[in-house]
This record gives sequence, C-alpha cells and structure tokens, in this order.
Amino acid sequence: MRRLTKEVRIGNVKIGGGNPIAIQSMTRAPTKDVKSVVEEIKRLELAGCEIVRVAVPDEESVEALKLIKNQISLPLVADIHFNWHFAIRAIELGVDKIRINPGTIKNKEGVKEIVKRAKEKGIPIRVGVNAGSLPKDLAYTSLPQAMVEAALREIQLLEELDFTDIIVSLKAFDIQTTVEAYERLAETRNYPLHIGITEAGPMPEGAIRSAVGLGILLSKGLGDTVRVSLTADAVKEVEVAWEILQSLNLRKRGFVIVSCPMCARCSVPLIKLVQETKEHLAKLTPFPIKIAIMGCEVNGPGEAKEADIGLAFGKTSAVIFIKGNPIKTVSSSEAIPTLLKKIEQLLSSEDFPGKEANGGLV
Ligand code: SF4
Repeated sequence: MRRLTKEVRIGNVKIGGGNPIAIQSMTRAPTKDVKSVVEEIKRLELAGCEIVRVAVPDEESVEALKLIKNQISLPLVADIHFNWHFAIRAIELGVDKIRINPGTIKNKEGVKEIVKRAKEKGIPIRVGVNAGSLPKDLAYTSLPQAMVEAALREIQLLEELDFTDIIVSLKAFDIQTTVEAYERLAETRNYPLHIGITEAGPMPEGAIRSAVGLGILLSKGLGDTVRVSLTADAVKEVEVAWEILQSLNLRKRGFVIVSCPMCARCSVPLIKLVQETKEHLAKLTPFPIKIAIMGCEVNGPGEAKEADIGLAFGKTSAVIFIKGNPIKTVSSSEAIPTLLKKIEQLLSSEDFPGKEANGGLV
C-alpha cells in the first residue's frame, strides 16, 4: 500500500495523492549553455524522464532558465543553493518548482520572499535536505533525526506563511540513514516525498545502492517521485529508475526480458542472443511487453508461458509461445529472428493488451 499524501502539481505532473510515482533527473551540462542543456533534456525525455532539474549556480544560469523553458515540454525545476535572489528570479522566469536546501539558504527573510513569489505563481517548493549540508546549529542525537529536524524547521516556516505546496526529500548516501529519516518525517507530515539515495556512485554500484534504498522505501509505501543519483550520463539515471519501479510493479514502460542465466543444459549462446535481442528491442518505441528467452526445457516452457511472448530452446529447435500457447517450432538458428518478427507484429496490432498502459500504473 502506498502512503496517501497531499497532491502537489509540478507543471503538468501531479505528485502524491495516489498519482503514478514520477521519475526525475538532473542535467549535467552547464545551465548557461542553453543548447547543450536543451539537448540533454530532450534525451532525458525520450528515456522516460518526467521532471527535470537544473542547477542554478550563477546569474547567467538564472537568465538561461527562460530560454530553456521555452524549448522543452518537461516541468523544469530550479535547484538553488546559497543565493535566494536566484530563486526569486527563477520563479519570475517561469520555472515549475524551486528546490531549496535548508542547509544552504539560511536567510529567513529570503525564504519568506521565495514563498511569497511561489504562492503568487502557484508553484511548489521542495525542501531538499541532504545529509552532507545540514544547518550547522542543529541540536540532534542522530543523523536521521538531524535531517528531519532540518526539514521540519523549513517546513514550519513555510506553513507559518500558509504555504503547503511542499515536497520533501531527505537524502543520504547511507541507506539506513535515508530510510529512517523518511520514516520519521512521514510520521509528522503528509507532504509528498521525493526519494533518492544521494551520491550513489558510478555504474553499476550506484544503480545497485539506489535499487536497494529505493526498494526499501517504496516497499514501505514511501515515495511519490524518485531520482536515481549516478556518476554517469543522466539518461542512465532514468533507465535505472524505470527498472526499479517496474521491478516492484509500480510503473510499466517498455519491454521486460525474462531470461535464464544458462548452464550446461543450454545448447545455444544464450547470453549473446539475449544481448542482441535487447539491443534490437531498444530501437523500437517503448512498449510494455514481457518477453521470455529460456535456455532449455527444464524451466523454459513454464516461464515462456507466463510472458506475453517467449521462446524456449531445445537441443536443436525452439518453441515460440504467445500468451502461453505454443505457436511455432523453429530451428535454433531461426528462433531469435522469428521471435523479433512476432514481437513487431504484436506491437503493431491495435488490440495488443496494455498498449495504452505505457508509462502508467500497472
Ligand atoms: S532454464 Fe535450462 S539452460 Fe537455463 S539455467 Fe535453467 S536449466 Fe540451465
């Protein structure tokens, strides 16, 4: 069961309130390099990113926001540290959300001014706490508690100004710290949560750490929008986030391959064949379809039957199944080309179930 939160709108994306868990990422290109940022955002959108955040470290970056906003369709979030005036200008220039960090914007009058402008424009604010940049004057007994205290301090300030379009994040590198912080905060407020494991590292370590951390949080019903934080191309963050949500049956997008690890019973080079199939499928429009590719008759037919389409190799031939029904037996060498042809036929058929579900809830 997902925790039901207040609903907050970021541009045309609704967060919390039972809406699909939205996927976010953050650009790498300098924000003032409008051409590169827009190109990066378009790649992120193609990969399935639903909200994009840009860092705003200087005046040139602030002024670039309008040009970026005019060329993209994803909701744009301005990430502001240290200088609250940048947040004011970003709001004027039409961003869809402001992220402020209680540890780096300490000027209360500045925060009040940000709230006033956000309210006028009807945009939300993310109170984005990071374990690495907590306010220095916090009194606390544990790191998760300190993160929650930092968030609550800022949340209370916003609430006193009658502002509740709030999203909260409490990110740390350590998974237990992160989980505990989110759990504690969730006991006090029902604002939507943006979840992530911060500075999770390069691939594949960062993806694994993120999957474990987000998996724990999501399985507790916590999390309304996610960001996988990787030292890699931003598109990888989006791909990993989708895999995490798909593996928990929380969202559905693109193909899922069920394939065995192969062993001495398999008479074909399965690892190579599955990789080639994956590369071929990646060129097609993302479509929610489950494909099984199994190495032998031990588990093969059973798994292939569970998939939308699948094949199970035998000694010299393979059986192709659609929705559990064997439709064809072909030689091993013809198996993958035949499977791919059948998949393309299925995808182009108007009545393929789940076609409309792409990107939606399962
Ligand atoms: S399905 Fe067959 S080939 Fe694949 S791992 Fe299992 S026993 Fe081995």
